[in-house]
Amino acid sequence: MNSQAVELHRRIPEWFAGNARELPWRDSGCTPWGVLVSEIMLQQTPVVRVLPVWVSWLQRWPTPAGLASEPSGEAVRAWGRLGYPRRALRLHAAAKAIVEDFGGEVPSTYPELLRLPGVGDYTAAAVAAFAFGRRETVVDTNIRRVHARAVTGNALPSPSLTAAEMRLAASLLPADAGDSVAWNASVMELGAVVCTARSPRCAECPILDRCAWVAEGRPEPHYTAKGQAWAGTDRQVRGAMMAVLRSAEGPVRRELLLHAPVDLAAPRPAAELDPLEALHRLQAVQEQMERALTGLIADRLASENASGVSLPL
Ligand code: SF4
Repeated sequence: MNSQAVELHRRIPEWFAGNARELPWRDSGCTPWGVLVSEIMLQQTPVVRVLPVWVSWLQRWPTPAGLASEPSGEAVRAWGRLGYPRRALRLHAAAKAIVEDFGGEVPSTYPELLRLPGVGDYTAAAVAAFAFGRRETVVDTNIRRVHARAVTGNALPSPSLTAAEMRLAASLLPADAGDSVAWNASVMELGAVVCTARSPRCAECPILDRCAWVAEGRPEPHYTAKGQAWAGTDRQVRGAMMAVLRSAEGPVRRELLLHAPVDLAAPRPAAELDPLEALHRLQAVQEQMERALTGLIADRLASENASGVSLPL
């Protein structure tokens, strides 16, 4: 192992020991189920938004069996405004598979975890590492960014995960299982709170004098990272429609979802809007509204019968 890797292995976990955020899924008493739920919620969603939903989710469903015994629509309702609600359906399906195929216990190995619906390479490796202490190459966006800057000297990792990045991550993984878990967790945290995408706080970084990107004079990225547009998108309309279904006590008539039931001429503060009015104030064209509703039904995030549209039963 070269001296660069030795220094990174020493300094980043040491920094983590003194600076890591206290998060409930990192607590030694957290169950593997709690870790799995956190990993699925944290995909594409920041910690601050995940925290309250994770806490109430684990209170309501402390085991996979609890979630598996309820309709998938309850998972979608409890998902609230975390976004990408198909993850709620996948978590529900994973809970059922855990009950049916693994006796109600979250499996502990990477290949077994990969058999769960909705669990991909990253989640399987992260749960095997963080819930079961296994030596796995965990590669998320934050880890990729730290590797790209500190080791490869690039401002950003490539737009999608490459074989070269996986080889680099595997070559950097400490041989000892305990050290590897600390390494994965600490590099991920460094990327999340110090080596951030837009404005890395290099002055606070424990490896500033070892960072290849800084040493090379902070060259510009090789490409322009695309921002994720939101306003006016189908995702925004689908999100607003899901908020209506979550807040409704029963089925909502299709016409109510697709056509404004109130006069929208007068402006009103956003905080005063109920979900239905908030949906219609997006002023989406009819075609987009229908596309959003059709998409939600096709994705099984909503179901429709003669009484109207509701969360899946
Ligand atoms: S010195 Fe700056 S760019 Fe390099 S790893 Fe640390 S925070 Fe990231």
